Amino acid sequence: MNIEKSQKDFAAAQKIIPGGVNSPVRAFKGVGGTPRFFDHAKGAYVTDVDGNTYIDYVGSWGPMILGHAHDAVIAGITETAQKGVSFGAPCELEIDLAQMVIDMVPSIDVIRFVSSGSEATMSALRLARGFTGRDKILKFDGGYHGHADGLLVKAGSGAATFGEPDSAGVPADYAKLTLTAPFQDLDEVKRLFAENKGEIACIIVEPIPGNTGVMDLYSNGFLQSLRDICTAEGALLIFDEVMCGFRVSSGGAQKLFNITPDLTCLGKIIGGGLPVGAYGGREEIMRKISPDGPVYQAGTLSGNPLAMRAGLETLSRLQDDSLYADLEAKSKRLFEGLLAGCKAAGVPATGNRFGSMFTVFFTELEHVTCGADVSGHCDLAFFGKFFNEMLNEGIYLAPSQYEAAFVSAAHTDEDIDNTIAAAERVLAKLTA
Ligand SMILES: *Cc1c(COP(=O)(O)O)cnc(C)c1O
Repeated sequence: MNIEKSQKDFAAAQKIIPGGVNSPVRAFKGVGGTPRFFDHAKGAYVTDVDGNTYIDYVGSWGPMILGHAHDAVIAGITETAQKGVSFGAPCELEIDLAQMVIDMVPSIDVIRFVSSGSEATMSALRLARGFTGRDKILKFDGGYHGHADGLLVKAGSGAATFGEPDSAGVPADYAKLTLTAPFQDLDEVKRLFAENKGEIACIIVEPIPGNTGVMDLYSNGFLQSLRDICTAEGALLIFDEVMCGFRVSSGGAQKLFNITPDLTCLGKIIGGGLPVGAYGGREEIMRKISPDGPVYQAGTLSGNPLAMRAGLETLSRLQDDSLYADLEAKSKRLFEGLLAGCKAAGVPATGNRFGSMFTVFFTELEHVTCGADVSGHCDLAFFGKFFNEMLNEGIYLAPSQYEAAFVSAAHTDEDIDNTIAAAERVLAKLTA
């Protein structure tokens, strides 16, 4: 595969941009090799600057659930752009998208738009603190909730890929307000609430963790227990659905699992590929936000018309349950096909999947339940080889064992079968 132009671009970018990238995991540090610079994308495919086309399972890290450059989304953005791309004043598209999200996500009655998932989570935390009058928050080891200071404590994929569990530059005094517990460890959650009686504002959790690879917190009742504890302790339960919202059902994980958080953070799919985040929830909590209430939060480009239109065109196509049924069928076929391929090649593997988000882990473990299972028991070197060989086969996976794969509505059964066949060839080569 000729990747000359990507190599040149990467060298040029590294001179003037840290690591050559504007978000760390794009740099391929966990897998080795040269990041591809993309020129264009359509449907299930991305094409790099050297003209190589790949079947894409990154989907811009989740947003492209309809596939790349969906005709209606592009037409909508183009039409709206003709009328001006930002006003810094209210526009009707904000009301339309707010109403659509409120209709789709069960726990959201009032919503505020921001420009990224990170902004959504940090704003939701400030709101939880402002509402409860408490300073401490509780998150889980390996839960990634964006890059705000207090959330970069045991924060999953990006940090884990580089073996840096925490970030430099986060004041220790600030990090002290962030309590952490391992996934599934209810006793530790209860102990922390007892030790910090009346001081914990909220639990923030990805209801389907996707940032140490996809994990399952639902099946054994863990999420429901968190709901019960928060209710009993007067703390808020925040679902960070930036990744799984609109991904696993039209109303996110909370609709799929029928568990009601107090606040929900959204991002990724909600902007259809443009920079949008949002947080929302019960009216009495959301009315604490400025200018209705004392919790300040603002954004020059928040709710800008281009981003709202991209969100509207995307979410309006996710109303149809048959779309999710189709995603489920294709994703199941791919996930099971990959695991069967591993088994046939004698490569120990397991995985977790919810709808069209999944991770296959190269490990002897029967179940992978947390980031420590990945760092301690997965064959990360083998993943790196598998990733690069798949890339040579024209399959673009996330460049880290700690990430999810995403299937889009644009992937065909043929794409899926070609992907499985490529994996079989790669596994045969790597075990020869
Ligand atoms: C991606 C992600 C974020 C951060 O969103 P950005 O738009 O990258 O700032 C927060 N939480 C979760 C669960 C995510 O997957």
